[in-house]
Amino acid sequence: MGALCVWLLLVTPLIISAMPLNLEGNPKQEGATGQFWHISDLHLDFSYHITEDHRNVCLSSKGAKASSPGIFGDFLCDSPYQLILSAIQYIKDSHQKVDFMIWTGDSPPHLRVNELSTKIVIDVIRNMTSTIRSLLPDLLVFPALGNHDYWPQDQLPVKENEVYTAVAEFWKPWLTEEALSTFRKGGYYSQIFKSNRSTYTLRIVSLNTNLYYSPNKVTVNMTDPANQFEWLEDTLKISRQNNEKVYIIAHVPVGYLPFARLTPAMRETFNLRLVKIFRNYSDVITAQFYGHTHRDSIMVLLDEKENPVGSVFVTPAVTPIRSVLETDSNNPGFRLYQYDTMNHHLLDLWHYYLNLTEANLKNESSWDLEYIMTKTYQIKDLQPESLGDLVKRFQQPGSIEFLNYYKNYLVSFDSRVGCDPLCKIQQICAIQYLDKDSYTKCITGSKGVK
Ligand SMILES: [Zn+2]
Ligand SMILES: [Zn+2]
Repeated sequence: MGALCVWLLLVTPLIISAMPLNLEGNPKQEGATGQFWHISDLHLDFSYHITEDHRNVCLSSKGAKASSPGIFGDFLCDSPYQLILSAIQYIKDSHQKVDFMIWTGDSPPHLRVNELSTKIVIDVIRNMTSTIRSLLPDLLVFPALGNHDYWPQDQLPVKENEVYTAVAEFWKPWLTEEALSTFRKGGYYSQIFKSNRSTYTLRIVSLNTNLYYSPNKVTVNMTDPANQFEWLEDTLKISRQNNEKVYIIAHVPVGYLPFARLTPAMRETFNLRLVKIFRNYSDVITAQFYGHTHRDSIMVLLDEKENPVGSVFVTPAVTPIRSVLETDSNNPGFRLYQYDTMNHHLLDLWHYYLNLTEANLKNESSWDLEYIMTKTYQIKDLQPESLGDLVKRFQQPGSIEFLNYYKNYLVSFDSRVGCDPLCKIQQICAIQYLDKDSYTKCITGSKGVK
């Protein structure tokens, strides 16, 4: 581990042969369209190396044999540095004009607790920050912490600690002193994105939803961990008064997990409180962006009368890892959003992916466009009404749109099991129903979803 730690301190911007971009796969920006990237769940496995003994390719496979290891990774391992670098390099080489990037956390690998430490976790976050900064020095990044961005994992605290303090230093080039001051205390912040093209000011609110994550034992009996709910409501109140629009960014998503039954990612009470806040401020919050599940999914926040009032996006991971118990995984992916610069409404998203099997075979990081949301689903934009109509079409028997949705959900991973009727109900209920009452009604059939 000693040598690895030394390695982690070094930023090694390896030169990856820059692949020529498919020009037809490049989004075109028109007058009042702004753009930003969203990347998540990098999960660097610094132990990854190619070796004859497939049990020893990476620590993150936890002793299981890597399935088909190549220079860009393996479906039983977290990301080799080469994979992460190829993703950032692709973003750089795309020369897209963007306003900023959202980075929703989880830099360290999935390792046993004694294989990591506070120092290693901090070193990995430093390395990932430096990698992004060295390749994209002029890019403004709005980051959020993930449940793996702490040691022991998931146990993010409600007060100042070594990790928040260290990470605040790394993120100084991107964040204001006001943002950093709340970040050091609770791992959350808000910051204005300045633009002279807009009628409304855009505020990014980066939440530490890891405080609400079910495995976080620190916050078990708390009603408002790190006073984040109070701060969030105050922030949104001021945003409303000042005529601002808000993008919520965080790691652990609100709502229910699309691959499980009756399981929210957060503790039930925390989830409900967040949903209520998001409903109350749906005139202010324009969109929400999460990571954590490693899958590509959407949610539509409905108000009490079931009108769509919020667009929620979960971006898949860069890491392709699955556990030996899972049959399906995801190819590495990240995305570009387009928005209306006048009101910050989302217009479209372009999702990029790496076919990991092919990339390893060719020894080339062939990142490519996977889909364009409005084209794939025949919707006019990414507004709540459009997503609400889309999910109604998903529910039609044999819906082609849903088949596409499930393909994209796994980032074009060649699914071994597909999505059976039970899987489809779970997906449809998770997309539309973010609170316990409505979700339970949906999953038990009383919403007529079948
Ligand atoms: Zn993750
Ligand atoms: Zn996570």
